[in-house]
Amino acid sequence: MLRFLIRKWITRRPLTEGQERILRSKVPVFNTLPSRYKDQLRHCIKVLLYEKYYEGCGGLTLTEEKKVIVAAYASVLILEEKADYYGDLQSILIYPNDYFAPVSHQTEDGFIEEGYENRKGEYWQAGVIVLSWSDIEAQLYGEERKSGQNLIYHEFSHFLDDRYGLTAGIDHNGDTLRDDEWTVIIAKAYRNLRFSGKHSFLDRYGAESPAEFFSVATELFFERPEKLLQENNKLYSLLQNFYRLDPIRWK
Ligand SMILES: [Zn+2]
Repeated sequence: MLRFLIRKWITRRPLTEGQERILRSKVPVFNTLPSRYKDQLRHCIKVLLYEKYYEGCGGLTLTEEKKVIVAAYASVLILEEKADYYGDLQSILIYPNDYFAPVSHQTEDGFIEEGYENRKGEYWQAGVIVLSWSDIEAQLYGEERKSGQNLIYHEFSHFLDDRYGLTAGIDHNGDTLRDDEWTVIIAKAYRNLRFSGKHSFLDRYGAESPAEFFSVATELFFERPEKLLQENNKLYSLLQNFYRLDPIRWK
């Protein structure tokens, strides 16, 4: 109840002039949105700016501009399906570049191997999302602008997958543990990407696991919807139903 009242209070105030300027000049998707979604986007941004903790790490200077950009793209995913504004997510950590994260895994003969892995971002179930700013910039304004990739969509969609168990019915090889339409269509598309070797507009990284597949598909759905529709219209419809949005009409 208290949360509800605070949200009501927060969202009653308009964005500042500076925040509006950032939206128009630094958030390319904003200008493509149908007008009814623009206010909804502002509404979500206000909640995400107020409720989440943002931190610049590894020497990154956190600015209002960076916060608004991250909050804006995170808001696109929840324009219709609010997901309680990423309810359990508390912190968003932003690094200047890719970073090295310690990893360990068990080998087949039972030994634990430790090392480091280069990452652009990640989602921790503990309520933290980590992002690399240089990758965000390259994808929004730079040489990767048309790649269909978007790190912010990617990491925040992991949250949604986790919250709703969207890929929980598919194992690593793409075999299904449930037979609902959602699971069957995602599993088939995942197996295609993982095993068929055919050309795909979906990034190869989606072949890593069903969870990565869902996030990669989400990126393409919002960034290059015409490509996803062309490649797999069933998958497109599935995401359209889930997000209750149809980005192909936004251009
Ligand atoms: Zn991922």
